Amino acid sequence: MLKRCFNTLLIICLCAGLSSVATSIEALAVKPISPQKNEQLPQLAPSKEDLSPLRVGLYHSFLLTHQQQLETVYQTAITTVERAKSVGETIGWVVLDLDETVLDNRAYFIAYGDYKPELWKQWLLLGDAPAVAGSLNFIRFLRMNQIPFAFLSGRREAQRASTLQNLMRLGLPTTVPVLMKPDIYTEGKTAIEFKQTHRCGLEAQSGVKVWMLIGDQASDLRGDCRGTYQFKLPNPIYTVE
Ligand SMILES: [Mg+2]
Repeated sequence: MLKRCFNTLLIICLCAGLSSVATSIEALAVKPISPQKNEQLPQLAPSKEDLSPLRVGLYHSFLLTHQQQLETVYQTAITTVERAKSVGETIGWVVLDLDETVLDNRAYFIAYGDYKPELWKQWLLLGDAPAVAGSLNFIRFLRMNQIPFAFLSGRREAQRASTLQNLMRLGLPTTVPVLMKPDIYTEGKTAIEFKQTHRCGLEAQSGVKVWMLIGDQASDLRGDCRGTYQFKLPNPIYTVE
């Protein structure tokens, strides 16, 4: 019985994910690979022919346990803020990464299977990624409690307009700092260097310390100006160094 319920839930999750893929990818100007059709859902399961980490991770990401893990991390962050408020701790910036932290890009990986720079750019220009589980509730909580927060993404400035459009579609504010990479970026080469530079810049400009970081990559949480609390969301699909 339990197993049947689990399978039903998994299929519902997969259907929801893939129906949005079909809609979004149709709008892409470049279509070298046909989008998955709904009737192909079971093919997302790893096969003997394709046991690549990305494929296995993508399948895993649709399991209910993964969604629960995401929500648990965000709930722990909420509890941390509440506790800090109750003891009068000084609360500064909460800095959130975007991809796979707030914006769910699995539709891209289902359709194209791997990171391909030109296709990835096309995908980002759609500005239509759904929200990562737990993220909208967390940001709503921050706003209700007047906690300052900012987005810090490795996306380029050229993708700012579509990124802001995506945030607006999700009902998220775009008047908060949305920090992105310049189109030509030569300073720090690693994600850690880039993110710490922007976090320290945010502190210097605002006079408010970074207090909490949330990201799906270890590189989101390392380096200077990283605050008191760092929360890592699971990402079984890919790793950024
Ligand atoms: Mg990310």
